[in-house]
Amino acid sequence: MRYAHHISDLVGDTPLVRLTTVTDGLTATVLAKVEYLNPGGSVKDRIALKMVEAAEASGELRPGGTIVEPTSGNTGVGLALVAQRKGYRCVFVCPDKVSQDKRDVLAAYGAEVVVTPTAVPPDHPESYYSVSDRLAREIPGAWKPNQYANLNGPASHYETTGPEIWSDTEGRVTHFVTGVGTGGTITGTGRYLKDVSADRPGGPVRVVGADPAGSVYSGGDGRPYLVEGVGEDFWPTAYDPAVPDEILPVTDADSFAMTRRLAREEGLLVGGSCGMAVVAALRLARRLQDEDPDAAAHAVIVVLLPDGGRGYLSKIFSDTWMRSYGFLRDEGAATVGDVLR
Ligand code: PMP
Repeated sequence: MRYAHHISDLVGDTPLVRLTTVTDGLTATVLAKVEYLNPGGSVKDRIALKMVEAAEASGELRPGGTIVEPTSGNTGVGLALVAQRKGYRCVFVCPDKVSQDKRDVLAAYGAEVVVTPTAVPPDHPESYYSVSDRLAREIPGAWKPNQYANLNGPASHYETTGPEIWSDTEGRVTHFVTGVGTGGTITGTGRYLKDVSADRPGGPVRVVGADPAGSVYSGGDGRPYLVEGVGEDFWPTAYDPAVPDEILPVTDADSFAMTRRLAREEGLLVGGSCGMAVVAALRLARRLQDEDPDAAAHAVIVVLLPDGGRGYLSKIFSDTWMRSYGFLRDEGAATVGDVLR
C-alpha cells in the first residue's frame, strides 16, 4: 500500500507546469512551480517543517512545548500542521487588520489566535511585536521560530526547493524568478541553483527577485502596497542580498491583473504574489528576446508561485474590490490588461 504516515510527510516535491497562454509571443520556456500543492497550501510548509525539526534537534523546542509566532497566514498554517504531529500547542499573534477568514483558518487547525490592535506603534506594549515577545517569555516551554531571522528558512529551500527545480529541469533551468518577503525562498533556492550550476558551460543560473513597487528590496522607501506576503520596510536576516542578480519592481495593478489571468487562462487559482512573480518572469523573457533572440529561445525560466487564490476571493477576484482601487481597467475585464506594456 502506498500512503504517507502524516500529512507533513507530503511537504515539497511540487510540480512544474508550463505557462502557455500568458506567454503568448514569448519564445522562452516559462515553468511555474506550483507551491499551493503543498498540504498546507503554500510554500511556507517547507520552512515550518525545517524550523521545527531544527528547534527539536537543538533542544529549543521540547515535548509539550508551545510555538509562538507573529503570523497571519501561510507560515501559521505550516507550523500548525507540523505541530499537530508532535502535539505542540500553537499561539499565533495577528494584527486586527488581518481578515476574520484568515484567523478562522488558523483556529480550524487548532491554533490559538491572539489579536492585537494595528493602530499602535511597534514599541507599544499592545503591538503585534511586543505581545508575541511577551507571550514567548511568559509561556513555559515557548519557542518563537522568528521566520525573518531564522536561517533554517533559507536552509529548507537550499535542501528541497532548489534540488527539485534542478532535477525536474534536468539541469536546464537558466533563470529563477520568485517574490521576496522574508527573503528565505530566493536566498535558499537561488543559492542552491547558483552553486550547482557554477561551472556549467552556459553560466550559472540567474536569480531574479520580484518585489512590490515601493518595498525596500527594489529601492523603495516602504511605501504601502496591497499585494500580500512580499515586500518589506526593513531588511530581514533570512535575506542574503548577494544572491539575487536583480530585483524587478511590479505594481499592484499589474500583479492583480496577472493573478486574474492565471486563474482564467492557465487554470491556476493563485495568490497576488504569484501574479507579481509571473509579471517579472514575463518581462524578463521579453527583455531576453529583445537582446538575444537565440538565447531567449533556449531559456528555461522557472517562476515560483507561493500560494493558492482561495484566500483572496473577496479581494483580487472581486470586481467590486478591484474597482474600488481603480484596478479594473475595462469594466469587468482585468484579464485583457496587457501587463507587458
Ligand atoms: N508570497 C506569499 C503569499 C507569502 O506568504 C510569502 C512569504 N512571506 C512570499 C510570497 C515570500 O516568500 P519569502 O518569505 O520566502 O521571501
